[in-house]
Amino acid sequence: MIKPVIGISANILTLDNGAERAAVSTEYIKAVSQAGGVPVMLPVITDQESIQQQLKIIDGLILSGGYDVDPLLFGEQPAEKLGYVCPERDFHEIELVRAAALAQIPILGICRGIQLINIAFGGTIYQDLSDVPGVIKHMQNAKNNIPTHTIEIAENSQLASILGPKAIVNSFHHQAVKNVAPGFRVTAWTADGVIEAIENSESEFFIGVQWHPEMMAATQPAMHNLLVSFIHAALSKNA
Ligand code: MN
Repeated sequence: MIKPVIGISANILTLDNGAERAAVSTEYIKAVSQAGGVPVMLPVITDQESIQQQLKIIDGLILSGGYDVDPLLFGEQPAEKLGYVCPERDFHEIELVRAAALAQIPILGICRGIQLINIAFGGTIYQDLSDVPGVIKHMQNAKNNIPTHTIEIAENSQLASILGPKAIVNSFHHQAVKNVAPGFRVTAWTADGVIEAIENSESEFFIGVQWHPEMMAATQPAMHNLLVSFIHAALSKNA
């Protein structure tokens, strides 16, 4: 059986000696492979035609975690607690996700990925959650695969059909979706009201999650199932 090809957007890492590397955490690669997909890395490029060609070789798109998104892209000036930004990567992923949505390619946004999706389609994010009163701890002090907070999941959502009404997830973010982009619905949140998932029902699979399912996929069957559902959607697209 031909497995679906899953493009994973890459980060740009700067090493201590100043050298730059295109990189994807191996957890994405392992989780996609385990769930039945063939992972390929999509390095940051900025030529629009070449980005369109990157999309032609994939059946599903994962927008991976990483740096903060440039607030100029949602009409704000940088706040004091904004982290490192990489406008080249923002450009690459915004082009990718808009074109993938038009082409009805299944999309899974993870951590930065949910924020990037929301911004690409006209929403905003909190630049730092300390600006929001009453928030729980969303930057956990525990290993990557340890779930630390509960999420409630919206009834009649695609996420609920995969995970059920509640889940416990890991949390490695200091930002979160603020105003939700038109066409999207909030489908998971924490008790403090922070948005943990959005989805767009115009595509077969177009979900953003604020946690890192790929880090939990080897130890939490529900998170493996989330990746399996995404890869099934990519398979039906490629069939
Ligand atoms: Mn969280």
